[in-house]
Amino acid sequence: MKNNTFSYGDVRFADIQLLRYRVPAFDSLSLKQKLYIYHLSEAALAGRNILWDQNCRFNLSIRRLLEDILNNSSILHEGTDWEAFVTYIRQVWFANGIHHHYSTDKFTPAFSDAWLREAYSRIDSPVVKPEEFETLLNVIVNPSVLAKRVCQSGEDLLQASACNYYAPDVTQKEAEDYYNALKAKAPNPDQPVMYGMNSRLEHNADGTLTENTYYTQGLYGTELNRICSHLENALEYAENEKQKDIIHLLLKFYQTGSLDIFDQYTIEWVAETEGEIDFVNGFTEVYGDPLGLKASWEGYVNILDKEATKRTEILSQNAQWFEDNSPVDERFKKKECKGVTARVVQAAILGGDLYPSSAIGINLPNSNWIRSVHGSKSVTIGNLTEAYDNAAKGNGFRQEFIPDEDVLKMVNDFAHQLDDLHTDLHECLGHGSGVILPGVDADALGVHGSTIEEARADLFALYYIADQKMHQLGLTPTMDAWKSNYYTYMLNGLMTQLVRIQPNCQIEEAHMRNRAIIANWCLEQSSYWAKIFGMPPAMELVKKDGKTQLVINDYPTLRQYIGQLLAEVQRIKSEGDTEAARKLVEKYGVEIDSELHEEVLSRYKALNLAPYKGFINPRYSLVKDSNGNITDVAISYDESYDEQMLRYGRDYS
Ligand code: ZN
Repeated sequence: MKNNTFSYGDVRFADIQLLRYRVPAFDSLSLKQKLYIYHLSEAALAGRNILWDQNCRFNLSIRRLLEDILNNSSILHEGTDWEAFVTYIRQVWFANGIHHHYSTDKFTPAFSDAWLREAYSRIDSPVVKPEEFETLLNVIVNPSVLAKRVCQSGEDLLQASACNYYAPDVTQKEAEDYYNALKAKAPNPDQPVMYGMNSRLEHNADGTLTENTYYTQGLYGTELNRICSHLENALEYAENEKQKDIIHLLLKFYQTGSLDIFDQYTIEWVAETEGEIDFVNGFTEVYGDPLGLKASWEGYVNILDKEATKRTEILSQNAQWFEDNSPVDERFKKKECKGVTARVVQAAILGGDLYPSSAIGINLPNSNWIRSVHGSKSVTIGNLTEAYDNAAKGNGFRQEFIPDEDVLKMVNDFAHQLDDLHTDLHECLGHGSGVILPGVDADALGVHGSTIEEARADLFALYYIADQKMHQLGLTPTMDAWKSNYYTYMLNGLMTQLVRIQPNCQIEEAHMRNRAIIANWCLEQSSYWAKIFGMPPAMELVKKDGKTQLVINDYPTLRQYIGQLLAEVQRIKSEGDTEAARKLVEKYGVEIDSELHEEVLSRYKALNLAPYKGFINPRYSLVKDSNGNITDVAISYDESYDEQMLRYGRDYS
């Protein structure tokens, strides 16, 4: 790219900061393993366009238009409109589309309509034709068109959402009726497939509904065929026969779209724990669908971190002890906890819905019955948490929000280690614990299902991180270190996570709602019991010199509240108590005190930090000798964000 005014260094724009992660474990792998990673990485990048199209049906055309303009040297590369354009395209790249990756609100470009029109007119042979340009321009600049990607409130969630999992004329009621009917006819109701997961729901010419399935002969066929060819290349480098079987089943799934085959694949994938290299490639998470049925495409590859994994192995080995001793009702406990496989890994590549913004812990599969019969695999992605921690060191954030010096010291000493342990507990034990009572629909909690599930896993982690057992198992540095995790968790739930929300908006994202529920509920309990007993509350927000501060007076009592809420949230999940789930979410997880919100935003603004972070991938390339034989796979970390995005746009489209 030439003639541009933006730098190739690490990037900070809008509310985003890009970080680089390193993959030290890659260097000690054999050539065969490196080649396995190389081909799996290609497969993880090859599905990028699927996600873009799933996020909104105009995304791919808009990206082509924007990249066309960016690459055109006859457009003046300076001035406020140009700068606004560069920010906009970087935002769109980051979000895999025109809606913010987290809030899902459509971006508001700061360049003028006239500038975009002018820039377009200067392209010699534009990819986007003039009629289409008018449509795209309207989508980009008109705030009322496709305003939100995932809308969680309103009369018709599908009509209000811009995501592309349903044709524009499909209503929420039609979709719900369609999938309820499918579920009612399930041949094996105890072991249902993930209905609707891999398709776009559309109308036939006669008005009936049909699924346009994602498979090599159907929707996204081009991308899926490319993914398949990379997977086929990976086959010969697999570490063991099981990995080969898994790849064969995944190929078969992509070639047929059969959800029964997907379940077979998933079961095999859960069972493979021998290899050092593992991957996810497929339609996985349902956060992008307001009805929680349709899965976004994602891909990533990871390498086992042997040393760090010892920690999670200890948790896994004790899974039954944790289940037996949890404060939930005996009826909701798992009699036999199996298949809790927990690993600390290093990400080797991030793709699809995990790029550039990534989860730091992942627990799969999402199929409830497979989880309970065959178990699940959990990972904490250590090289990503490390990149976050390095970025957080000394940026002034903790000093601002933790004014008490003793608390600050405790947090600085222990927070990183304990946060990792919290993530391990959440992923390894939390999600895998408990049972749903027979006859209860796993999707009974509907739109609140994800929030309640995340709350359950977090509560399990909070409850146990404070247990003496942790110290006995050698997982915590001191008997009291857990308090740092309580402090940072509550601070986040009550105050600091609000920096991610625009003024006058509500909390919408499932993980944020869950943290708000736990923190607000504990705050309310604290003040309630303090009044009754005439004692200081376990936890309170106090205002000092105009600044709100979290004070925790009594950590053990706070832990009791956590135990009570864990018991209740598990009951809600086990019984499928939709009404209780709704009340809990609506009372504690949605509304924000506007005065506190304003204060937190202004304190945060003064720090000038980016609330969202994402990652630039390393780049892998084959090293060949003079005879063309592959001698090594090189890994490099020098590609800039813009270069990487443009390369992905060129090479994976
Ligand atoms: Zn979770």
